[in-house]
Amino acid sequence: MNNVIETHDVWRVYRTGQQEVAALRGVSLCVTRGRFVALKGRSGSGKTTLLNCVGGLDQPTHGTVQVLGQELTGWDDERLTTWRREQVGFVFQSFGLITTLSVYENVELMARLRRLSATERHQRTVECLERVGLDKWHNHRPDELSGGQQQRVAIARALANNAPLMLADEPTGELDSTTGSEILKLFRQIVDEEGVTLLMVSHDKLVEDYADEVLHLQDGQIIGFGG
Ligand code: ADP
Ligand code: MG
Repeated sequence: MNNVIETHDVWRVYRTGQQEVAALRGVSLCVTRGRFVALKGRSGSGKTTLLNCVGGLDQPTHGTVQVLGQELTGWDDERLTTWRREQVGFVFQSFGLITTLSVYENVELMARLRRLSATERHQRTVECLERVGLDKWHNHRPDELSGGQQQRVAIARALANNAPLMLADEPTGELDSTTGSEILKLFRQIVDEEGVTLLMVSHDKLVEDYADEVLHLQDGQIIGFGG
């Protein structure tokens, strides 16, 4: 199975009161193993909605989503949650770290989801923090770190469960351009060296230098491929 993500004619219609908003209008895409694919588009074009449908955080109104050969359509929340913990690592714009836990504990928490032994969990946590260049920061709290370092912790956390698919929603959105480009470079290295597949939403101009492919979303439809 070389296709990690395959969507066919995905629609997502939000209903609020009398109003309907079609956030996705027939999105079909395919991402093969080991690729770094960027998703660009204006605010409101449906990028987050698409990422959420791929990651099992949301469900399409119509159409199908297959990830790693499994058809997610129609699954209940419990099944989706279990699946996500094993198959997907998420990285968000605002880092989403637990402020009362140390850097080490934030990452180790995710390693726990794989039901590893204590020794394996420790090894995996150390390995992931080393991978993102934070091996000397284990005992610090997130608020003692810079934005770029906090995003590195979030990336280590997303790696900790050994998930084959990584989804990132504007991960450089709160970072200055130099720090942002370092984070993009790190994602590129992770894709190349850890064999994960990455779908990243980004406004960042620099993303084109790092991604294998850039998809453009406009008003809920893919309007162009490039990169
Ligand atoms: P992007 O991430 O590209 O900024 P979104 O996927 O967040 O776009 O949103 C796409 C469209 O769907 C927007 O018009 C937005 O207002 C609408 N939308 C997103 N989430 C909801 C929701 N929970 N309820 C109603 N409308 C929503
Ligand atoms: Mg968004």
